[in-house]
Amino acid sequence: MERQVTDSRGRRDEILGIAEDFVPSAGVERLAGLVRESSCAVALTGAGVSVPSGIPDFRTPETGLWANIDPMEVAHIDVFEQNPVRFWSYYRPRFHSLGDKRPNAAHEALAELERRGLLEGVITQNIDRLHRGAGSQNVVEVHGSIATSSCRSCAASYAIDEVNELFDGDGVAICSACDGPVKPDVVLFGEMLPEAAMKAAQELAARADLMICIGSSLIVHPVAGLPGITLDNGGRLAIVTKGPTPYDDHAELKLEGEVDAELGALVAALG
Ligand code: ZN
Repeated sequence: MERQVTDSRGRRDEILGIAEDFVPSAGVERLAGLVRESSCAVALTGAGVSVPSGIPDFRTPETGLWANIDPMEVAHIDVFEQNPVRFWSYYRPRFHSLGDKRPNAAHEALAELERRGLLEGVITQNIDRLHRGAGSQNVVEVHGSIATSSCRSCAASYAIDEVNELFDGDGVAICSACDGPVKPDVVLFGEMLPEAAMKAAQELAARADLMICIGSSLIVHPVAGLPGITLDNGGRLAIVTKGPTPYDDHAELKLEGEVDAELGALVAALG
């Protein structure tokens, strides 16, 4: 029995990149204390959480064909509607490159905390599916996800692996049922955030007595307002992000190491 426990912990530590003789930093110990004291901890994650998976923040300059193109000018609802050839010439390769990516130790750590009952859920700005890929169950994807695409005419839904079959000779995804335009179920520039997801995120933020903000500069609204909701309801903030955020002065603590290392260490510190 004891042996089994040791073995399963060994496997977990391997996934999280934790060495056997690991000693957590004082900051990680404090964060572990906050998690232990909380009864409803929630994680809010941004692009930084997926950087260790090889997904650059979209603000990082791209190389190659799109080096000088601002994503805001292509991944825009107006381009999707008026120039779908241009839209898909940008988005189709992006779809493919995101589809190959795997969760990292930061995603694994948050899934592990949820399994242990220490984390209520994850609110994410990321569209890459990696929180679910790591096993997180309660995930609110406020910018949607590349997991599915939908026909704008008949609402037929296609899994990411099926979309590849839908491209016509111009490289535009067309519904196989009705020939309508198929759009990724992600929020494009110029689009409103999905109301149901935003409502779920706001409710979770209001209930949280601890919000751990990870890999986000917390400046893109309306997601940037969520930590404020937690504070207004008497909850506490912890920030695991490089660089300044507008909430730094309101947080109980801030960790500025690599997100995968810090969260892996958090799980280890929690024992
Ligand atoms: Zn259709």
